[in-house]
Amino acid sequence: MSASPTPSFCVSLPPREVILDPSFWRYKNEGNANIIFSSVSSIPAYQGLALRVRKSGSRSLEVPSSKPNQANSYQTVLTYIESTIIPLVGSEYTAPMCLQEVTPQFLTELDEQTSSYRPDYRLHKGIDSSYVHAMVTIDLTYSPKSPSSNPSISTAETGLSVEIKPKWGFLSNSVALPQDHIKRKTCRFCMKKYLDRHRDQYKSRPGAILPLTEFCPMDLYSPNSERVERALETLYRNPRNNMRLFNGDGYLTTPPSWNQQVLRFFQKHVPSSIVNEADSKLHLTSILESHLTPVLVGILLKEPILRRIQRWQQRLDQWDIEALYPLVRDFMVDPSNGPLKDRLLTLPTSDEWAYAAEQALLDSRKQQPDYINPNAHSLRQAIVEYLISATLKDCSIFISLWFPPADDTTTTTEPPQHHTGQLIFSWDTVSNRAIVTDATTTAGPSTPLAAGNPDHHLAGGTELWYSIHAIDLDPKPISKFEKYFGGDQNIVNYYKSLNLTRVCQAD
Ligand SMILES: [Zn+2]
Repeated sequence: MSASPTPSFCVSLPPREVILDPSFWRYKNEGNANIIFSSVSSIPAYQGLALRVRKSGSRSLEVPSSKPNQANSYQTVLTYIESTIIPLVGSEYTAPMCLQEVTPQFLTELDEQTSSYRPDYRLHKGIDSSYVHAMVTIDLTYSPKSPSSNPSISTAETGLSVEIKPKWGFLSNSVALPQDHIKRKTCRFCMKKYLDRHRDQYKSRPGAILPLTEFCPMDLYSPNSERVERALETLYRNPRNNMRLFNGDGYLTTPPSWNQQVLRFFQKHVPSSIVNEADSKLHLTSILESHLTPVLVGILLKEPILRRIQRWQQRLDQWDIEALYPLVRDFMVDPSNGPLKDRLLTLPTSDEWAYAAEQALLDSRKQQPDYINPNAHSLRQAIVEYLISATLKDCSIFISLWFPPADDTTTTTEPPQHHTGQLIFSWDTVSNRAIVTDATTTAGPSTPLAAGNPDHHLAGGTELWYSIHAIDLDPKPISKFEKYFGGDQNIVNYYKSLNLTRVCQAD
């Protein structure tokens, strides 16, 4: 059998017969188009892997022909991520991925063994056994255990993961929009939440409407620690689908249990009086704010991943769909444009994706495009750029935390292979709040990464490992281009009808 073309950012994998044994995989979760499994093995080298398989009736990518090119579907995703997203976001923030040839028998058996674990509302779509590839990647929720640890100790105590969907992090600066346009004052997310609430009122029972979220992505993307704190705390109060928390066993937890999960993870590293006091109060946001917020703020300020995502979201959406789509529409109905117009909305080739990223990197301060006399080339380039920006506007950030497993032997425990860095976690007994410092700083006294009490009274000081990755980086289908315009106009027009004057703060 010929080998699959393997992208260069693959991890080392177990032998094929291990991967193609359905009992090696345990159902983890699923979205609309994929089901995710995690590996189950007593062999350390085989632990911490995840398998992604396509569901039936799902099409993450359309191709111009009527029959989806299934054999290349995951290959197309991997090529796009490697050639287009990694140069923009950084390979250090992208989890390794490998294409894996699979058989119909394997996919069918996996489907059969999984159905009883899946939620009822998802069961109308099973695994599509006609796909010839699956994707193997790192299980970002995996918590390493010391080899000598008592196997009965739950890894829920050694790991914690937070997924954040940060959404759009910029105000439009398109010269094609009027200077007083609402998009220059209010961010997309803060406009959209009003339309979402309006739609919820028609879908939900009275009383089931969630309060309007106070989250503004502009705060999360800010380099100001107080604004990042504010963003996280609004997400704790009303996470919707913008924040999820997983315990060390890799299970998704429900928001009412978040304080317990966070306490459980940090309990060995904070003074016992704090744990007892917290147990008696169990106040959701105060525990998350005192324990988890300083850690997340420290990581988000130290690592440039969010700033890169924000930069390329904006740079690759210079026209704004409100200006771009009408130009594309006019071009396509003009018969004098001949066959050029028919190629404007075809599926981008891998070379086109890569070229757009390359051009953005070569000239990040590129002049605004010519809106007065656009041609087929400039419109096509703007469409491809817009779709890359759309991937970055819809991706998630996955942050995993681990305290090195306590070991009763002299064995050195290594961080997981996908870890990004280390922090020193301490407890400030004056403010009763965690403080994190950069573990890589060796000269002089360490500086807290987030705002804190300048007169610290620190207790303890434990190494804390973390990883941070961008996930959900698939290319967006060009068939949605018109829909993006319609959605944008619905959001803006509904928000305008409310006569609100919210101003979202840029950096
Ligand atoms: Zn906002």
